[in-house]
Amino acid sequence: MLKVVICCDVDHDILGYNIAATRFDVYKEKLGWKSIENISRINETCNLVQDYKSNSAKVTWFVRSDEQLKIIFDDYAYPLRSFSNLWKKLEQQGDEIAWHPHLWRWSKKNQCWYQEISDSEWINRCLESGYREFIKITQNVSSVRMGWGFHNNFTMKKMNDLGLKVDLSATPGLERSGSPDERGSHFLNSYDWSLTPEQPYHPSQQDYRRPSEKNERSLEILVIPVTTAPKKRTKILTEKALRLTPLRLRKNWLKNTDIKSKHIQHSYIANITDTHFRHIAEQKLKQAQQNPGSLTKFVTVFHPIELFKPKGFCILKNNLETLTELSKKLMVPLEFSTATQLKNEICS
Ligand SMILES: [Zn+2]
Repeated sequence: MLKVVICCDVDHDILGYNIAATRFDVYKEKLGWKSIENISRINETCNLVQDYKSNSAKVTWFVRSDEQLKIIFDDYAYPLRSFSNLWKKLEQQGDEIAWHPHLWRWSKKNQCWYQEISDSEWINRCLESGYREFIKITQNVSSVRMGWGFHNNFTMKKMNDLGLKVDLSATPGLERSGSPDERGSHFLNSYDWSLTPEQPYHPSQQDYRRPSEKNERSLEILVIPVTTAPKKRTKILTEKALRLTPLRLRKNWLKNTDIKSKHIQHSYIANITDTHFRHIAEQKLKQAQQNPGSLTKFVTVFHPIELFKPKGFCILKNNLETLTELSKKLMVPLEFSTATQLKNEICS
């Protein structure tokens, strides 16, 4: 049996996806949410496929609620409140509404938004208030995916203490030390899942990236990692060649690719709007075929803005069809699940 969880991070519009958006060095200009308009069509596309129980593809929507939105819109949970009818409709159809806090903080010194990773007092306030405002609207939330997939021991414990039941921020084998961004930030994209296993685990209080070892205490929250796979050697070599290419040429090459910084990762994330998705889906279905008695998990992520990429909806549809068609061909039952449903099954 293969259980598929589709996660979608509902972020504000950012540059790089063929639509107008605000740079990261603009303080209070209203952020755009045009990518949310893609959600109805994403939902229609998900309804085109069915799992072995005849249910269509479910999505767990991770919606922002954090300090940056409070500063810009005077409302921590701005997208949750402003598009409440959309979330209600999706929830009624069997989707899940979850939380996606970003630690965007304004730097007076650098005059830009950046990823705060060390000031625990500020992070505590951002998460605490973001969560309180979120549950004023939804009453209940059990799943979370952190912005940039970032965690440290403090934030993981905070999620646990707030009462979140399942965290889907982990990307096994991937890490980035954080860097400046050409769209106007001096620092972002920092995360570390270098030693995280593929299997779900209750994180150690000593190290959020792994399960507890002897004599260590673990947290109650369950980490379900996003599915990652090793990149082909040829792809890594192409990326290395790109780094050595003059910047002018590189910009053209980098258009429509997932290579956004000088960092080269040896694994990639299962993204359902990506053309590489088929390889990783095939691997997972074969893994499930070889282990018929066990529950194989496949967790994929995407952002609504990615559907603005050329042929975005076509790729999404193809990838969903790949999943259901391959499951029939390999005779592996496939079931779409929300994050909380999968968590309940694992912990039952
Ligand atoms: Zn995000």
